[in-house]
Amino acid sequence: MQNFVYDQLPYRVVFGAGAFDRIADEADRLGLSKLLVLSTPGQAHLSEEAGRRLGARVAALYPHARMHVPVETAEAARAEARRLGSDGAVAIGGGSTIGLAKAIALESGVPIIAIPTTYAGSEMTPIYGLTEGGTKKTGRDMKVLPRAVVYDPQLTLGLPAKVSGPSGMNAIAHCVEALYAENANPVTSLMAEEGIRALARSLPQIAADPGNRDARSDALYGAWLGGISLGAVGMALHHKLCHTLGGSFNLPHAETHTIVLPHAVAYNSKAAPEAMKRIAVALGAKEAASGLYELASAVSAPLALKEIGLKEQDLDRASEIATRNPYYNPRAISREGIRRLLDDAFHGRRPAT
Ligand code: NAD
Repeated sequence: MQNFVYDQLPYRVVFGAGAFDRIADEADRLGLSKLLVLSTPGQAHLSEEAGRRLGARVAALYPHARMHVPVETAEAARAEARRLGSDGAVAIGGGSTIGLAKAIALESGVPIIAIPTTYAGSEMTPIYGLTEGGTKKTGRDMKVLPRAVVYDPQLTLGLPAKVSGPSGMNAIAHCVEALYAENANPVTSLMAEEGIRALARSLPQIAADPGNRDARSDALYGAWLGGISLGAVGMALHHKLCHTLGGSFNLPHAETHTIVLPHAVAYNSKAAPEAMKRIAVALGAKEAASGLYELASAVSAPLALKEIGLKEQDLDRASEIATRNPYYNPRAISREGIRRLLDDAFHGRRPAT
């Protein structure tokens, strides 16, 4: 066994159908009575539902979260939290809404109660991101780690199939990179492998029937494990590429992860053979990279970067940005290797291992 350091973050998770009805108990446990309840405008009905359950503990509903947390959106929400004297934030939605709560907590230190409705995993991490002038900057701060996370699979029943598949692949990406992380440890690896297994079996069922309650529960469980993996250990090439493509070319987050993942795994396959074996076993596939590609096609997710708005002339610049600063990856990063990887992802070719 390799030497390792294991550092457990202080999580509290309430999981299960109907868990949403217990959010007032979570607020009381944290002693919160002036909550700002956040959602996107499209999910304002969910912030209203949360407001009904929280009753007099609500200072205001704030359905103004936007994708990638633009600084102006963060500033406006912080100003509202200050004006109301809020003592906590409730975020109901995906990574964008939880990201807005994190922006508030980063400034004021107020506790967050997160109620995730996608599989992105932000609720389990002390990582925040803010976008300014088209560039997304991320950082880590324990102030932004939600103090309570309420996972209720019933809230995900309305997540459309075309959002669910890529969102689940995003969670798988966290698990995959945790298995070959520089600071991987046996406990996080167990969770990561189990996360892949849970998502690989549930996502095709959800694609066929988005209302399948057991599959929704399984997928949310896998997403939780993906979030833990992302928060616990460092990520590598795949997350770096997706950050570059999302931040500099404004590509959609989960779809970008879905398309790049099989190719990043193919790139790393020979350098991380043990991780690849575990990924393949968890997927129930012969081989990791092609197994991920097949899973993405089984959930009808996009397979090519050209389908989601990248231009072929952007590939050189993307390779340049993604290789500009050194970072850990099991296989050495070369500009030509990354250019080839992106070319394969651009055209949606089956990954070559
Ligand atoms: P998102 O929050 O933008 O949600 C995607 C879309 O789905 C939105 O239009 C949203 O309104 C809709 N939606 C969400 N839940 C729904 C539901 N149950 N029913 C119907 N529609 C629903 O996207 P995301 O993929 O959840 O999160 C992506 C963002 O989160 C990115 O900005 C990413 O960088 C960030 N993120 C951060 C971390 C972290 O640790 N800090 C981790 C993962 C993702």
